[in-house]
Amino acid sequence: MALDRFGRSIHYLRISLTDHCNLRCVYCMPEDQTFLPRAEMMQDDEIRTLVGVCAELGFDKIRLTGGEPTVRAHVVDVVRDIAHTPGIRQVTMTTNGLMLRKLAQPLKDAGLQRVNVSIDTLDPAKFRRITRWGDVSEVWDGIVAAEAAGLTPVKLNAVVVRGFNEPDVIDLARLTYEHAWQMRFIEMMPFGEISDFQLQGMVTAQEMIDRIAAALGPLEPVGDGELDGEARVFRLPGAVGTLGFISSVSQPFCAACTRARLTADGKLRLCLLRDQEVDLLTPLRRGATHAELIQLVRDGVWRKPWGHGLAQDEFATNRVMSAIGG
Ligand code: SAM
Repeated sequence: MALDRFGRSIHYLRISLTDHCNLRCVYCMPEDQTFLPRAEMMQDDEIRTLVGVCAELGFDKIRLTGGEPTVRAHVVDVVRDIAHTPGIRQVTMTTNGLMLRKLAQPLKDAGLQRVNVSIDTLDPAKFRRITRWGDVSEVWDGIVAAEAAGLTPVKLNAVVVRGFNEPDVIDLARLTYEHAWQMRFIEMMPFGEISDFQLQGMVTAQEMIDRIAAALGPLEPVGDGELDGEARVFRLPGAVGTLGFISSVSQPFCAACTRARLTADGKLRLCLLRDQEVDLLTPLRRGATHAELIQLVRDGVWRKPWGHGLAQDEFATNRVMSAIGG
């Protein structure tokens, strides 16, 4: 078991398969973002080795992310490798959904269990503005394909940004009347060089809840208002799906954190919103033994920070979200 010095058992690994993306969401990266050359990214066998190391330490839950994980070459093979690693119980993915029409079934067959699909608005013009060129109908097709392939329960993610999509939470919430999806609304977090934009545009989860309740009626807490992963879950009266609110900024859930992240360039990142990382890829390429890699991960996890420091104006500066993975 990988324990940190606060007694938390860290067993959930989010792996960024690539920092490249086929969209440029305004809250995720600057328009002129540069991306890693392929040689600096973990190769398929390196991912396999590092997942094996983490699994041996008790990591059992993997979420694949990016950048956009589905633009990675051989993504289906990578999923299959991870899903077949002894000790790994769950493999899920966060994706923008654009490639799911083609990939949902092969990913499911390879062992992927569920997907979270990002969709910030149903309005095609706004979607283009937020993503800088995306077509929301392709995302919709991807969501439908994911559900048909059994990548369920489908969860949808919307980052809510003032001046872009804060009124759209109502139409997104309405989806749950007809679909057994969890529609999750996320507070925008500040990163690196775009932190000013993010701080100005942040909408709190409470504001989102109030806006939805004013339009659609009071929300009923699901599971006594306890956290489900990182989300507080509610249901609209009569809805088949649920609403989740992720208040990373206004009401952080660091005490319950069980996560570490592996960036596409092979760094173990210990807190989403802090810069501390442990380089695993360089030692691996220099011939570190399995035992040495185990020790690096174990020591890194032990030093995992208690939580983020947004309330003290401490931001992560070394990477934007697309280079970490969310
Ligand atoms: N490309 C994939 C996608 O669109 O879901 C996976 C990577 S994306 C970085 C993972 C999640 O992080 C998405 O749901 C995205 O909306 C969210 N995200 C990106 N930037 C964010 C920010 N500044 N604050 C909060 N969430 C953010």
